[in-house]
Amino acid sequence: MPGEACGVFAAYSTTQRVSHLIYFGLFALQHRGQESAGIATSDGETVTVFKDLGLVPQVFDEPALAGLDGHLGIGHTRYSTMGSTTWANAQPAHRQVGSTSVALGHNGNLTNTAELAAALGVSEATTDSDLMAEGLARAIDDGRSDARGLELALMGVAPTWQGAFSLVLMDQGRIVGLRDPHGFRPLCLGSLPDGGWVIASESAALDLVGARFVREVAAGEMLVIDAGGPRSYHPFPEVKPGLCLFEFVYFARPDTHMYGRSIHAARHEMGRRLCEEHPVDADVVVPVPESGIPAAQGYAAASGIPYTDGLVKNRYVGRTFIEPTQLLRDQGIRLKLNPIPETLRGRRVVLVDDSIVRGSTTKKLVSMVREAGAAEVHLRISSPPYRWPCFYGMDTSDRDTLIAARLGIEEIRHHLGADSLGYLSLEALLEATGVADAGFCTACLSGRYPAEVPVTADKFQLERR
Ligand code: SF4
Repeated sequence: MPGEACGVFAAYSTTQRVSHLIYFGLFALQHRGQESAGIATSDGETVTVFKDLGLVPQVFDEPALAGLDGHLGIGHTRYSTMGSTTWANAQPAHRQVGSTSVALGHNGNLTNTAELAAALGVSEATTDSDLMAEGLARAIDDGRSDARGLELALMGVAPTWQGAFSLVLMDQGRIVGLRDPHGFRPLCLGSLPDGGWVIASESAALDLVGARFVREVAAGEMLVIDAGGPRSYHPFPEVKPGLCLFEFVYFARPDTHMYGRSIHAARHEMGRRLCEEHPVDADVVVPVPESGIPAAQGYAAASGIPYTDGLVKNRYVGRTFIEPTQLLRDQGIRLKLNPIPETLRGRRVVLVDDSIVRGSTTKKLVSMVREAGAAEVHLRISSPPYRWPCFYGMDTSDRDTLIAARLGIEEIRHHLGADSLGYLSLEALLEATGVADAGFCTACLSGRYPAEVPVTADKFQLERR
């Protein structure tokens, strides 16, 4: 299973304190990052930041939320794709520039951090988000006499950032949502019943706080919200949109909508297509919970093979890939999933999962299903082989760790110990989204990178295409 993106949320209310609202928004986005959580709020004069390592409910209690005063604010749940899991790297990042206080939450990965660090004369910045905050602070300082402050600074500095960034930002009096010109990571706008506004990584987070979905923040758009309502700017030259295709496959909640499509419906369709491309004689279709469930249902519906639960997820254990070391990952799978031998024993099982990245988790799953008594295990994956590193917000920048970069399909099947293995084709995956022409990044599956990648990452990777 792939690593994760971060979750961002922002709120501007006309009638109420927003700390609880942001808390519940982050709660809905917990699946996007479980290493740290943070909230910054403002009462119009003072910005207060509270952040710590841990899950949202571990970081915040009532006294912490009570201390976050004000009617506007931003929040962040973090999964590290750059920099380690430390308090200092938790977000929102904050800077005080004269009388202006700014805070920033970032989902994505910049690809020109070396150049930015050199331009800022910063020898060492621990994260790309920190570099953004620093660049922004200096731009605010330069334009201190202009009341537009944060807005003006962003117009100047944002075009120097390359790569993936869906950001929420704030100063004392406004919140901002900003998406990179490709729109790698999602961001949407919702309205509150009191006339206020929220910005969130996923539409499911709007539902949870009682906000109505208004629209997606467009790729390359900067949306500024204050007492006058939302204002839209476009600081970047226009390029073809490239939303991360893995948002549809795996990252996003199934109850989220992107490009106007239900993620659940798209995953169900991926399963149907998977069955068309890789049918098999079997007794039961079993999902790898939870992200494999809609695709397994689609596979069962298309094949007529009964769908059943064969693995139970312990919902109170964090998703296993969150732990950064291999040792912890290996421990994690046992904590997370347990087989139901009664539904597997003696059966020919179609085991449906969304992806295979490193292969270590899948190998354990296959052997777990076999040990529980399955007669055959036919692995079906609702995405193509993951062959290329991601530099846009997923922790797969080391190509050597990707099993499909090293082995062919038959070798992978053998390595995983499955009786057969079938991956969904890229064409079928794109069609299953229902919006194939909307513009997607498919780089990890196709090797076609929509935006420049860092030269230090793997200087040979583009030559091997
Ligand atoms: S390379 Fe893959 S995971 Fe990364 S943004 Fe593109 S589609 Fe998403």
